[in-house]
Amino acid sequence: MALLFYVFFVILTLSMDYSAGGKHDMEKQLKKNDIIPLEISGMSHDGNGVGRFQDFVLFVPMTAPGDKILCHVVKVNHSFGYGRVMELLEPSPMRMENDCPAFRQCGGCSWRHIQYQEELRLKQQSVEQNLKKIALFSQPLQPILSCKEERYRNKAQYPIGKDEHGRVIVGFYARRSHRIIPCSDCKLQPEFFTVLCNVVKDWADRHQISVYNEKTGKGLLRHLYLRTAQKTGQTMVCVVATSGKLPHEEELCECLIQAEPSVRTVLINRNLENTNVILGKHNRILFGKGCIEDEICGVRIRISPQAFYQVNRDAAEKMYQLAAEYAQPKDTETLLDLYCGTGTIGLTMAKRVSRLIGVEVIGQAVEDAKDNARRNQIANAEFLCADAGKAAQHLANRGERPDIIVVDPPRKGCDDNTLDAIVKMSPQRLVYISCNSATLARDVAKLEQNGYHFVKGRPVDLFPRTTHVEAVVLLSR
Ligand code: SAH
Repeated sequence: MALLFYVFFVILTLSMDYSAGGKHDMEKQLKKNDIIPLEISGMSHDGNGVGRFQDFVLFVPMTAPGDKILCHVVKVNHSFGYGRVMELLEPSPMRMENDCPAFRQCGGCSWRHIQYQEELRLKQQSVEQNLKKIALFSQPLQPILSCKEERYRNKAQYPIGKDEHGRVIVGFYARRSHRIIPCSDCKLQPEFFTVLCNVVKDWADRHQISVYNEKTGKGLLRHLYLRTAQKTGQTMVCVVATSGKLPHEEELCECLIQAEPSVRTVLINRNLENTNVILGKHNRILFGKGCIEDEICGVRIRISPQAFYQVNRDAAEKMYQLAAEYAQPKDTETLLDLYCGTGTIGLTMAKRVSRLIGVEVIGQAVEDAKDNARRNQIANAEFLCADAGKAAQHLANRGERPDIIVVDPPRKGCDDNTLDAIVKMSPQRLVYISCNSATLARDVAKLEQNGYHFVKGRPVDLFPRTTHVEAVVLLSR
């Protein structure tokens, strides 16, 4: 195979006419639909293999560093392009046998073809590289915290549609499309989710229940939304439909409970909007309390359909433990938890500090946070519903001086308002939890210019088989 690759390479290289061989000549030469031999040498942050043809960079999905491929060039931009694998001439030693029949079509996993140990190595590398490139750090991070790489998710949202024979399908959207592919057993979800999908599918077929059509806005069933609490073993089934009432709904409810004893609540969520947002505002309870409860780091958390909850509970628990280990909370100290969601991180440390303040922009999440504090008899917590930057400025101006600040912002990181206010409040320890190491590095660099220094950091894998990776970093004043 190696020989074949080099023979291809030589023939193709000779047959392409580049006058001076420089980058700009290459750009002219490499065209859409060219077929070239390519060796994959690295990985982009969004999970594509990266290969260089002379100086020209090509991104090729579903490849691994070390692969030698015959690449079909599908798009050429100014300085880079995209390709697809026409033939895998020599597989990388990082590869593993793909074990999911839907892998090529489904948009869920990017890395089901790479061994998990290698995936962890790539994730560690990508966080370290961003910190090195953007924040100019040279210290290595602690080795990535891994987790169970299969069946780790506690939440799934299956679109409901019909196949070409008019039979109901409950499945997944194909990569970058709204075409529904049937739900073969997904290895990221618990096995019993597939059982629940089949119950809904059979019930809908039996009673000829209509499915929603995105173009016309007609039809009833939109999504099957499932959540399970991994610690307490309680499951929620929520059928998203264009009406809050469904024909034969009691029968559906009974079938679900019979098929899966962990089902504690069944709801119908009404969503009439022509939107990609899955849940509407209105829930109608068919069975149970309308919510389930989980436990993380010893704190009971109420999970309603709308509430944010980490999709990988077990790994999130390890990440919260790491955040607490970095934060070193003491019973005389005040902790400020910015971007707190339903309060989980702060609440898991609340009993070890004298006071907790949480800030979150979504009103419902703040209500959930307050409710979670009450349920756990945590009386030293206060939650503010506001933009993190504005609230932090307000707290700084009213003279708050928290000893510890934890931030867990969305992908775009913290804005300048937030960072300025943090510097003003000058906590002794700052724990930054990030789902995007590029913005983490940018923000850490800014904090370093303002009196903070990097103490330690560690990537945490919450989403095996996808390109997402979290990181926890401790900064000290
Ligand atoms: N720390 C929580 C949630 C982290 S996700 C947990 O581990 O469960 C990031 C959170 O930041 C989300 O809840 C999101 O609603 C919130 N958020 C996004 N932009 C914000 C802003 N400008 N101000 C405050 N919170 C914001």
